[in-house]
Amino acid sequence: MSDQIEIRDTVILGSGCAGLTAAIYAARSNLKPLVLEGHEPGGQLSITTLVENFPGWPDGVQGPELIENMKKQATRFGAELRMAHLSTVDLTTTPFTLGIGKDTIHTRSLIIASGASARWLGLPSEQALIGFGVSSCATCDGFFASGKEIAVIGGGDSAMEEALFLTRFATKVTLINRSENFRASRIMLERAVAHPQIEFLHNTLVEEVLGVEEKDLKGLKLFNKKTGERWTLPVSFMFLGIGHIPNARMFEGQLDLDADGYIKTQENVFVSMMGQRIPGVYACGDVQDRRYRQAITAAGTGCMAALEVEKYLEEQGR
Ligand code: NDP
Repeated sequence: MSDQIEIRDTVILGSGCAGLTAAIYAARSNLKPLVLEGHEPGGQLSITTLVENFPGWPDGVQGPELIENMKKQATRFGAELRMAHLSTVDLTTTPFTLGIGKDTIHTRSLIIASGASARWLGLPSEQALIGFGVSSCATCDGFFASGKEIAVIGGGDSAMEEALFLTRFATKVTLINRSENFRASRIMLERAVAHPQIEFLHNTLVEEVLGVEEKDLKGLKLFNKKTGERWTLPVSFMFLGIGHIPNARMFEGQLDLDADGYIKTQENVFVSMMGQRIPGVYACGDVQDRRYRQAITAAGTGCMAALEVEKYLEEQGR
């Protein structure tokens, strides 16, 4: 039994770069969008440090500042931001039905901008030590690594960025890459390689995180898959930088997803079920983008989704 029932013209799921850009455009079209901020308010930018590639900031901008400004811009034009996340969703009938705990929202259109979340190794010992030396957010937890020797897992730009950032706190950073080669861009890799506090391990897998009994990370059991060597690296922190998983599981069976769980889109933002478009529902940002995954592309598709919503509602006579 619902406690509260609302009817909306448009609801935006997620408050990262895509969701907030959609909110700015929808609000300026007087649609009074409701933004459900989700599990990670502000999305990935809110846990980043310096963003150097967002046009308009020649000296870079802090991710949280960029998000805060977008929120102000969206609310200035009438968007409503709500600290809530979805528990159920039904896209089979219109208006679409969203469940938030005991409350229900019916919405004539929906923009899915639920982003992607950090990927974990999946080891039981890793999961047991989250918050006790294991972290997926260098910006949030870097300070706690002050004066310690630590490890960063991954070989892409995220891992390089984390490793470089963490040299501000840690005395030594060991970057552990499971492959022979790095996925990182040349500029990021060169910065990390040139840094005297960063050391690299290649072809190396983390087999176990030590310290579960003590609830305090003591080291990592490592395995070199090329040489077969096994050893323990004594570190006090392990930061994950191994990519992200799209937050689209709740749409399984209601929308077409690809093999990795990203929402499949046609012409940028249109979603489908069994190949048939679902009018009034759009996806933007990292939840549907496995290729670019940039703040600016998320903003771009957020804008497109809002323009499509506006057109759709107008066609419906709203
Ligand atoms: P990527 O997908 O680029 O890289 C993921 C890395 O994690 C790879 O090295 C991969 O290894 C490794 N990995 C994945 N799963 C595991 C696992 N289970 N165990 C161990 N290692 C694993 O993700 P990123 O998050 O680094 O980057 C995503 C996008 O964001 C990229 O386009 C990047 O350029 C961009 N980005 C840009 C930044 C900037 O410009 N400042 C900063 C951060 C990201 P393998 O190669 O073996 O698969």
